[in-house]
Parts: sequence; C-alpha cells; structure tokens
Amino acid sequence: MIADQYDVFLFDLDGVIYLDDAVLAGSRRCIRKLRAMGKSVYFVTNDPRPTRQELCNRLNSMKIVVSPEEIITSGWATAQYLAKNNISNVFAIATAGFTSELEAVGIKANFDGSCQAVVAGYNENTNFVQIQQAIRHLEAGARFIATNGDQSFPGRNGRCIATGAMVELIRKVSGKQPLIIGKPYSYLFSAALQSVAPGSRIVMIGDSLETDILGAHRQGLDAILLSKEKCCFPSKHDYRMPDRIISHLWELFKPNEEVKPWRNPGFVWPDAVKPGVAAVIFNGQRQVLLVKRKDNGLWGLPSGHLEIGETVIDAIKREIQEETGLLVEVEKLIGVYSDPVSQVFSYPSGAATHFITLSFLCCITGGCLKADDHEITDVAFFDTVICRLIF
Ligand SMILES: [Mg+2]
Repeated sequence: MIADQYDVFLFDLDGVIYLDDAVLAGSRRCIRKLRAMGKSVYFVTNDPRPTRQELCNRLNSMKIVVSPEEIITSGWATAQYLAKNNISNVFAIATAGFTSELEAVGIKANFDGSCQAVVAGYNENTNFVQIQQAIRHLEAGARFIATNGDQSFPGRNGRCIATGAMVELIRKVSGKQPLIIGKPYSYLFSAALQSVAPGSRIVMIGDSLETDILGAHRQGLDAILLSKEKCCFPSKHDYRMPDRIISHLWELFKPNEEVKPWRNPGFVWPDAVKPGVAAVIFNGQRQVLLVKRKDNGLWGLPSGHLEIGETVIDAIKREIQEETGLLVEVEKLIGVYSDPVSQVFSYPSGAATHFITLSFLCCITGGCLKADDHEITDVAFFDTVICRLIF
C-alpha cells in the first residue's frame, strides 16, 4: 500500500483535510491510521492568516490530534526566515495571527519609520494607502518578502483575492521582485522538513498542481494529488504532473497500490519560455569568441533574448555589440536549441527561464573588443579544441 512507501507525510490543509469549516470525509481516519503506523505527519499551508496554535485548535476541534509543531504556515515560516536573516523591523500587511507569529520571534511589525523589509501577507481590510506605503518602503530600499503567491482562493460566493494578487500589484508598481516563502517555493518545505531525519521517505499530498505538486517536485519529493479528476500536461517532464492521483485519502491504505517515484528530469523548472539568440564568432585563427557572465561566472557564447518588436537578426547583432563591443553581420542560422536540460538557465534570484535559442554564425565587421561590465566581466577568443572540453 502507498502508506508503506513513506515515513513522512506532508498534507496540505484546505481542500485535503478540511474545506472551510467542514472536515473532509476520511481525513480524520487517515491521520489516525498513519499515526498508528508510526508515521510522521505535518500540515503545510500557504494560508498566512492564522497562527500555528489557532490552526492546531481548529484541527483538534475537528478531532484531528495534532501539535502546533506539526503545522507549518507560510506566516510562521516567513517569521522564521526574517529572524534567521536578522530582519527585526518590517512593514507588514498581516492579520493579527500573522503579526503575533512575527512578534513571537522578536520582529516589530507595522513599523512607522524606516523598515528593513516589506512583508506581504494577507489582511482583507488592506487598503490602497497601505499598499502605497509598502511601495514607498521598497523605493527607500526595503527588501520585499511575500508569504505566498496564490492569486486567489475559493470563497462562498466565488473567488476571493489572495496574497499573490496584491503582491503582483506591488511588484508591478515598484518593479521589485519578491522573495516568496510559500509553496511552490522552497522555504516552506525546508521549514517543514528541518526536524525530519535524513534518509526519510517523504511524500506531499495536496489538491493544487501549481503549489503542492510543483513545490514537492522542486524539492525532489514525491507528490500525490487528491482529486476526482484526471490531469495531463503536454510534456511528460512537467513538474506539475502528480506521481499518483487519489480520489480519497483512504486510498493510501489500499492493498497492492503504490506511487511511482518522482524522477527529476534533469532541469530546473522554468518560470517562463522565451525566444533567445546566440552567436558563434571566429577570429582569423579559427578561435571562437566566448564571454564570461557576471551572474554565474561561467564562459559561454554571446547570447541574449529577443526584445518586443525585434527580429532575431537585430537581436543577435545588438546582443553582441552590447556584450562584446563588436559589430557583426549574420552569415547563417546554424542551429535551433530547445532541449530543457541545456536551455533552462537559473538566475541568482531563484528565477529560471527556458530559452528556445537560435544560433547564428556571425562575422566581425567592426567595433572594439570590450566586456560590457554590466552582465559580462570578460571576453576572449578560445581554441575550439578547448571549447569542446568546456561544453
Ligand atoms: Mg489546498
């Protein structure tokens, strides 16, 4: 049975254990049975509003026995992150519950003067004045941290605005990218697993492909979707594809059933797919031009991505001039590369982009070789034999 395959079970709450105020069928019995089998159970939620103790009380009132230490909320995990990074005064958009999680680790919230960080959680009474204040703090140099990126959540009368929608508003106006703590990003999972013994077999069970399943797979964990519907994605390597779909939690204990373990396809899950261009440029000695990138310190072909309204020819000529100072003419297209393993690039911010890269053979017509200092720290020609070794 599936329950035998794992030592540690991470459960999403809303839509898996309960829905609004109602406990979902089978969840109470499932948790009781897993505990009787000696399994570890954690509840991992993106909801930043309640404290761990409040959620613990709520679950206990549903006759699900749990301790606060087994509950990981995005609000609590955000407070832990801030404390570990020596951030002690913040401008917080938060409920009383999240504010008390911040204060419990010595963080002063709703700070009137300057602050080290803007922390975007959720409070349904948030208004434009507060959002504008958050943007002012970001403009003054505060860091931008969000509890979670969910755009909406289901309410009694339809979809409701969630933290992510407000975060997106602040991001668009301020131009600052937030660090997001909740699923599908790593910090919430790290917080949940910090007391788990190394080598433990861990599975995530959730009802959201975009947060629970994607987040678990980004961590290298197996992921089970609780759903009555099938799902499919065009790519068989899609991180959002669950390793198993169950329609009821009791299926964890069905004989002769198992989860096919997650196999990492060998690339980081990208945030976007973009068209890119790269250039192969030889000098008179048949040496090839490479540039050393500031963000990752690696040597590679001059390359970049298309700007809106640009042809690929214009894009590669511009990129080469910007990165190397050289003027070139394009001789011919020599390859199109889309394989995610070689064409997904990660950035220090944590973002990753999958490029569809068109490679051109180019010849130098003018200019003066010089690294641009902004993205490129060095430019040089290399023997092609050495280049084969590099790639
Ligand atoms: Mg859910």
